[in-house]
Amino acid sequence: MFHHFHGPGFAPSQGSITADTLARIIEHYAETHTLLNAADYLERASSGRLSERDVCLTFDDSLLCQFELALPVLQQYELTAFWFVYSSVVTGNIEMLEVYRRYRSEFFDDIDAFYEAFFSAIEASRYVDPVNEKLQEYSPHTYLAEFSFYTDNDRKFRFVRDRALDEAAYQNVMDTMMARSGTSAQQLAEGLWMNADQLRALHNDEHIIGLHSHTHPTTLAEMSTDQQHGEYAHNQRVLTDILGSSPVAMSHPCNSYSAETLTLLDNLGISLGFRSNMSSGFDSPLEHPREDHAMIVKRLGL
Ligand SMILES: [Zn+2]
Repeated sequence: MFHHFHGPGFAPSQGSITADTLARIIEHYAETHTLLNAADYLERASSGRLSERDVCLTFDDSLLCQFELALPVLQQYELTAFWFVYSSVVTGNIEMLEVYRRYRSEFFDDIDAFYEAFFSAIEASRYVDPVNEKLQEYSPHTYLAEFSFYTDNDRKFRFVRDRALDEAAYQNVMDTMMARSGTSAQQLAEGLWMNADQLRALHNDEHIIGLHSHTHPTTLAEMSTDQQHGEYAHNQRVLTDILGSSPVAMSHPCNSYSAETLTLLDNLGISLGFRSNMSSGFDSPLEHPREDHAMIVKRLGL
């Protein structure tokens, strides 16, 4: 499971890798596993013929850095991959998740400097009391424990963002910080995401474009079934309009889904879905495991 790449035109960000690291990961898996093209993985998964050693490559979040930096590597190895696209950004909207990520990596020396500024901004805001009260429930040892590569600050930031603030409050804190840094969401959104032509080019080259919700909620499982259905049905309509055929694969944004999510995806005709970690005990066709590239890089010492 790949996310961010850095190289010409794309600054390094937390966990980003280069095209060369991708090439080394591909070579490792080609030696130790059966590295399948996306269509072959889908076909084997659908017919129950996937073996233990079969793996494929997936790219989440419709990122332009993937198209510009990772695609040439795939072409070099004659490989196709899954690309899981949240569609709001393809239709010209800005999703703040990615904008904030860029802000964190380009305006601070390192991620801890951002976390420090963020926690100070909270201290100076009207949210300080409710946040401190909620933080009494926070434990770095149990919160998001399945993501072993997160630091304590990674966990605390995510806890404050997802559990202690509501969306409007979080946006408010971040908007204040960005304005103080002399930038804006519009400015930071430029060059972040792929467009419809690029998705069509991937599709025409036998890559598989799949669903990843419309707006990429971080806690989709907590939304009502109707809202969840809206996210995926809208995502599917936009991608079907662009590609001329309806996607049959998906990955769960932030690994967030419920039993209802799986039912509605099945009803939308989705036959293959991916989680975003390697936890065992999930064996439905909509819960294939994936290993985060950060874990692979660490494990292989790249
Ligand atoms: Zn995602």
